[in-house]
This record gives sequence, C-alpha cells and structure tokens, in this order.
Amino acid sequence: MRGTCDSCDRVSELFQLPGREDNNCSECDSDLSTMILLYEALNDAQRLGMDAGELESEVIEILLRFLERCSLDHRETQP
Ligand SMILES: [Zn+2]
Repeated sequence: MRGTCDSCDRVSELFQLPGREDNNCSECDSDLSTMILLYEALNDAQRLGMDAGELESEVIEILLRFLERCSLDHRETQP
C-alpha cells in the first residue's frame, strides 16, 4: 500500500505495526519497532535492577535519528 507516512509525511510504501493504527514508511516503521523493542528491554532491565545505560543510549540514538528525519522532511521547502 502506498500513501503518506504518519510520522515523516513522506509518500512511500506504508507499513503498519501490530497493535497500532498509524501507517509508516519502511524507515519509520523499523525505527519505531526497534524503539518499542528496546524500550521494553529497557523496562525489563530496570525492573531487574540491571545496568540499562547502554540500552538507554541506544533508544535515545534511534529516537533522535527518527525525530531528525521527521523534522527534516517537514522542512523540505526551506534551504
Ligand atoms: Zn516515515
């Protein structure tokens, strides 16, 4: 299915994450699903009292990349 990505507004082939209503392009979809997995792992690690610093920085890294891509695409008309 082609359409507009709900995250970065780009027209692309769209994917839907299980249990979610939004449609995302392949890049946003993979970032989102990775973030969800990492976030769950992070919660588990914190609950078990494990050191989650590495997971935490990984989540933040992907989140920043995701946000950067989304905002960059919104600013397409500017130099
Ligand atoms: Zn997207």
